[in-house]
Amino acid sequence: MKILVLNTGSSSLKYQLVDPATGQRVRAGQVEGLGSAHSHADALRPILAELGSARVDAVGHRVVHGGEQFVDAVRIDDAVLSAIEACVPLAPLHNPANLAGIRAARTLLPDVPQVAVFDTAFHVRMPRRARTYAIDQGLAAQRGLRRFGFHGTSHRFVSALAAAHIGRPLSDLRVVSLHLGNGASACAIEHGHSVDTSMGLTPIEGLVMGTRAGDIDPGIVLALARELGVDGAEKVLNTQSGLTGLSGISNDLRAIQAAAAGGHDGARLAIAVFAHRVRKYLGAYAAVMGGLDLVLLTGGIGENSAEMRRRILQRLDFLGLSIDDDINGDARVNDEHPIAEISAEHARVRTLVIATNEELQIARDVAAVVGDGKSVRQPRPIPIAVSARHVHLDRTGMDVLFGTGSELTPIKPLSQPGQFACAEQVTIVGPRGRIERVRVLGPLRKSCQVEVSRTDEFVLGVDAPIRQSGHTKGSAPILLDGPRGALRLDDGLICAWRHIHMHPVDAEAYGVADGDEVEVAVTGGPRDLVFGDVIVRVSEQFALEMHIDTDEANAAELSPGAAGALLSEPYTRPERGEATLRSKR
Ligand code: AMP
Repeated sequence: MKILVLNTGSSSLKYQLVDPATGQRVRAGQVEGLGSAHSHADALRPILAELGSARVDAVGHRVVHGGEQFVDAVRIDDAVLSAIEACVPLAPLHNPANLAGIRAARTLLPDVPQVAVFDTAFHVRMPRRARTYAIDQGLAAQRGLRRFGFHGTSHRFVSALAAAHIGRPLSDLRVVSLHLGNGASACAIEHGHSVDTSMGLTPIEGLVMGTRAGDIDPGIVLALARELGVDGAEKVLNTQSGLTGLSGISNDLRAIQAAAAGGHDGARLAIAVFAHRVRKYLGAYAAVMGGLDLVLLTGGIGENSAEMRRRILQRLDFLGLSIDDDINGDARVNDEHPIAEISAEHARVRTLVIATNEELQIARDVAAVVGDGKSVRQPRPIPIAVSARHVHLDRTGMDVLFGTGSELTPIKPLSQPGQFACAEQVTIVGPRGRIERVRVLGPLRKSCQVEVSRTDEFVLGVDAPIRQSGHTKGSAPILLDGPRGALRLDDGLICAWRHIHMHPVDAEAYGVADGDEVEVAVTGGPRDLVFGDVIVRVSEQFALEMHIDTDEANAAELSPGAAGALLSEPYTRPERGEATLRSKR
């Protein structure tokens, strides 16, 4: 498969023909001088002519801003085109050019699938605390003012490559990815997800860049706007700041380093401020993630400037991070050898220099979208249902509690096909206390099962094991009291193991199998939480839904209609003893 990757700017069009399976760059080039006279279609036509017989199976478009809507690559149709158009106000310089490229490619290659890959997508789901600006929330909501972040394709590429290189699942790692180029951003990656990043609503925020200021007191912005007008202030902050503004020489670090070596004060200041800002973010993100396993440096500066890497990474032993200066000095990366590890031998945190390859990542994303025929690769969020304490009865239990031959009275179907809540209620009686009006769920089962939360166990004075539904053998004893009699169960009392019901189609979409254990993140609320040890249960009879108990729901402050996102690859639960409430205390 060959993917034509297009990166369209307002005045230039970069292209690469990439084989996503091998990573081979079949052709690459750039057309400059686009404008009103020379359209994007004019630029693309000779490129396609030059590719000639080299078959293009799909076109991948780098799109800078996907707003909140796009969390993954998407096949482009008219609706997607309109949605990208709707993001123009968020990226007025970039999205119109990206759109022009898409329109040109659709016109010239009408039968070839077109896919958009967004710089923002990797960050869209970052936690609310990280994406929210401390301004009036009504104003923020009305204007869509939030952190979006950029360089997502690069951060995603290097973090996946690094995890594979060190032979550990990305889901186990806390990573700081530093993309240091003419545009620069830092990203904190936990469980393979962006949990914070330095660029914000726009790419001006964060690190010092070639010509952009990065973090700055908004008071300065206001003062500049007052004096120079909004356009004047924008020009200063976007094009006359950063390394250019600090050094007074250039946005090119090579020129700045040469001048600094000759004693140029502005150049020395530029280097010092740049490195200081990156260090600050590195420390901050280690704190955000509660630790650090891996630091990645990429982009023109990260890949090539050993001196800048040394300045950024010196005196970080307290974090467990230490680099070998000789190895750092010699480190070279390129497409063939994209990784160089520069950690000192004793370092706990590993530090890698990585050649980013956004085009390859885009080509892979395109192949995934086109290959599986889906318009969106993103598996849907998992609806979460909260199970209050409840009872399942067998025939004998029904007879004892509600009278011989009595039948359940369904009052409400449950989400799982064939299951229903019943009018019947019982009292659970424990050595310390009792809980009345506990709902019976139908239909009748082969054996009785009582599911309670840890808090219920305190009330009852019992100690139940965490078990999957149906696995009651050897679980805790309990007494049930019904209108016609009392039922003593030798076992049957459990605290339910949190689980996801999945239809086989869902399991395939998520890449998991029955019995797998996964992590599910609940974000966007006031108490974001990642649930580990979630067991996947797959059956033709199941509808997609995660089940947790009331304690778990309260811990995550879930509201009705909540959904979670599957985080990690499935993992095998390490052998450990069976947990009960008492064994945990
Ligand atoms: P990018 O935007 O990723 O292409 O990165 C461009 C930046 O990388 C510019 O500031 C260049 O000066 C810088 N850069 C590229 N090669 C080197 C090098 N050998 N030493 C220092 N900086 C470099």
